[in-house]
Amino acid sequence: MENNSYNCVTISSAALQNNYNYIKSQVAADVKVMAMVKADAYGHDMVWAAKAFADAGCDIFGVAELCEAVRLRKGGISGRIFVMLGFEDDAVDSFFEHDLTPAIYSYDSARALSEKALQSGTRIDVHIKVDTGMSRLGVMPEALADFLDTIEGLQGISIVGVMSHFPESDNPESGSTEKGFAAFSKVCTTLKNRFKGVCHIANSGAVLNFPNTHCDMVRAGIALYGYNPSGIPHFDSLSATGLIPAMSFRSKVLQVKTFPEGTGISYGLTYITHRKTRIAVLPVGYEDGYSRILSNRGEVLIRGQRAPIRGRICMNICMVDVTDISEAAAGDEAVFLGTQGAETITADDIAEKMGSISYEVLCLFGNNNQRVYRE
Ligand SMILES: *Cc1c(COP(=O)(O)O)cnc(C)c1O
Repeated sequence: MENNSYNCVTISSAALQNNYNYIKSQVAADVKVMAMVKADAYGHDMVWAAKAFADAGCDIFGVAELCEAVRLRKGGISGRIFVMLGFEDDAVDSFFEHDLTPAIYSYDSARALSEKALQSGTRIDVHIKVDTGMSRLGVMPEALADFLDTIEGLQGISIVGVMSHFPESDNPESGSTEKGFAAFSKVCTTLKNRFKGVCHIANSGAVLNFPNTHCDMVRAGIALYGYNPSGIPHFDSLSATGLIPAMSFRSKVLQVKTFPEGTGISYGLTYITHRKTRIAVLPVGYEDGYSRILSNRGEVLIRGQRAPIRGRICMNICMVDVTDISEAAAGDEAVFLGTQGAETITADDIAEKMGSISYEVLCLFGNNNQRVYRE
């Protein structure tokens, strides 16, 4: 069909819901689960993924930017939506119009919210973002008491939560997680002595590795999409952890050709055949999220076998070696991410070859290709 690309990302709502339920099963019954759906749900389509999580019982969602939260609301998502990265003062109306919850870390944004609340005769709930070791956004713990003093004086604002983030919870051995959590526990005490609020710090790594840090709510991202943040290549997450990768990425062989020994392949001729070689040409390049770093490194599945990338990855094309896959022919399915026959390529496998993490692989594929959805 003229509207369809050769390349297709498929996303399974059953997998997303399995993963949500799995995370629920890992936390105590009274601990809430926020589904992190920023970055278009790590490439899984935020509105569609949020609906899948909502159908599984989720009613709290987290995004980075305000515009993402508005997109969720316009897409029909109800429940609480957290905006993590703050906002510009002139955008403050949106929080009221769409009933959104900001995480705040500056007096100016608190004042802007307060002014709008007073004008419209309403109140707004806010969570305070604290920096307990990530060295990223947030109020430093030692400045928290003063910050609360000034915010408390503003009318129309209800302080209902405090949050922080772990830099290393993907590593079960990390000492920084214990240390960060000790600092956060003090922050929680400060908050709870003064306000009726909730505390949250645990991301997927902490959900899986540090059960003592779950507090009142956890914020799960990568685990919802089926991956362990520790990044374990060549690992069958389904049987071993209860998480099911929700995304696959498939394409088609355009052409198969045979070249003599000594032939250079693709830009820069960085691969020279060392035998008579059958090459399959695939319509996937870095524009489709298949990083150029995977030149001469990546693998795809064709007819249930692994075919290595030969030469540089182009903008829209790459080549693989199918000399040992004698039946390979134009029109064959090529799997970049997912399972074919008995073989599987996971986002961790690709990430390992890129020197990256599964998160980036999912964002790259999901946000650069047509997506289809499977119930
Ligand atoms: C993205 C994000 C998360 C989720 O992290 P995962 O490692 O994907 O579980 C949690 N909290 C904040 C503030 C985030 O930005």
